[in-house]
Amino acid sequence: MFGRAISFLLLQGLGGIMGWQMAPEALQLRGMVIGMLAVSLLFFLLDFSRGLTVLRWLRSSDLSEVPVRRGLWGEVAERVRRLLRLREQRAQENERRLQDFLAAFQASPNGVLLLDAHDAIEWFNQVAAQHFGLDPGRDLLQRIVNLVRDPDFVAYLDAKDPSEGLIMAGRGPGIGHRQRLSVQLHPYGEGRRLLLSRDITALEQAEAQRRDFVANVSHEIRTPLTVLAGFIETLQTLPLSADERAKYLELMAQQSQRMQSLVGDLLTLSRLEASPVPDASETVLARPLMDQLAQEAAVLSAASAQSPQPVHTLQFITPPPLEIMGSAHELYSALSNLVSNAVRYTPAGGCVRVEWLLLEDGRASCRVQDSGPGIAPEHLPRLTERFYRVDRSRSRDTGGTGLGLAIVKHVAQRHDAELRIESTPGKGSSFSFVFPAHRLRPT
Ligand code: ADP
Repeated sequence: MFGRAISFLLLQGLGGIMGWQMAPEALQLRGMVIGMLAVSLLFFLLDFSRGLTVLRWLRSSDLSEVPVRRGLWGEVAERVRRLLRLREQRAQENERRLQDFLAAFQASPNGVLLLDAHDAIEWFNQVAAQHFGLDPGRDLLQRIVNLVRDPDFVAYLDAKDPSEGLIMAGRGPGIGHRQRLSVQLHPYGEGRRLLLSRDITALEQAEAQRRDFVANVSHEIRTPLTVLAGFIETLQTLPLSADERAKYLELMAQQSQRMQSLVGDLLTLSRLEASPVPDASETVLARPLMDQLAQEAAVLSAASAQSPQPVHTLQFITPPPLEIMGSAHELYSALSNLVSNAVRYTPAGGCVRVEWLLLEDGRASCRVQDSGPGIAPEHLPRLTERFYRVDRSRSRDTGGTGLGLAIVKHVAQRHDAELRIESTPGKGSSFSFVFPAHRLRPT
């Protein structure tokens, strides 16, 4: 600026001198003034044209290059350009931050929905779209009550205190039945609200299963307890002969045995749920495992008819030289459940056959077949549910707890194995415990 003022004054001086010298003697003063004015006009015209160039540049869309570098206008243009670039950088930074926030909300496993002061939808993530059946292309800026018309939800939006939240039906795919959502409103900003939604279908189902389980266990324990209490009362109040007493005590022993089996199976299940999955550090040989199962089957078969000898044809085929990587205790418990079921449900004189089959893809299966009553197809998918029985009284009569196959399935899952059940009513059943190749090793 200072340099520019100096050069203006110098040129003015020069113009004045030139005017003075070029004018006739009598008009030298006037010549000097005209010279100075001419220089001022020149300066004005130059500035005016630069100003026009800058104005045209400001009106254009591309402000990256300044059109004038020199003079007052050059400096103005350069400062404007810097200011604009700074603004642009800040806007880009803000936009990037906003996108990061939205990406974080988008990644949330919960539904996130932003409502303005009139309950119009400003933004929502994919999960919220699925929970409330919304379409991002269609439903933005719509009032949410026009899209989600559940009366409970509408009442919740109007509630003075939304801190309690709401449980409602969702529009997404539920597990088995309709989706259940837990919804919570959080006020923010000026009248705005954040709506969070969480899929609680699985949670509610687990809770229902837990309630059923507790009810089932209570029922299973109450029955033998009631019978025991009845016998105790009889023993206490009635004068009984020694034979009668012995008979009652025998029946009492049976009931307490039943409770013991039930508690034992419950403990086995809870241990399976609580302990880490068995790794390859423990191994069990198929041969001794099979011998142990064969011994147990013989004892069980004899006991089922109170006979000194087994009353079934028991075929335990010598297994191939195999080693299984997994928990010996759990595998014995699972396979002995299958063998015990086969013996218990097959009438005396029937056949129980246990054999190992090597499959082509490297897997191996331990198959327990019986010639018992078989199971109708409609029961097969539910057999491994806790306390599911095809024939309640038959299960109880043979000392069943209704938990055996649930234990088998659990152990199979923990060993990456598969439980295959095939059965033909009237002909018999076949339960196969199929081990994956990575759990097997030849010996
Ligand atoms: P339970 O203790 O009652 O035997 P499980 O879980 O072992 O319970 O078996 C569930 C139901 O499956 C049994 O109640 C029975 O009805 C049926 N079942 C299991 N194994 C056999 C089998 N080998 N033959 C016929 N029915 C069977």
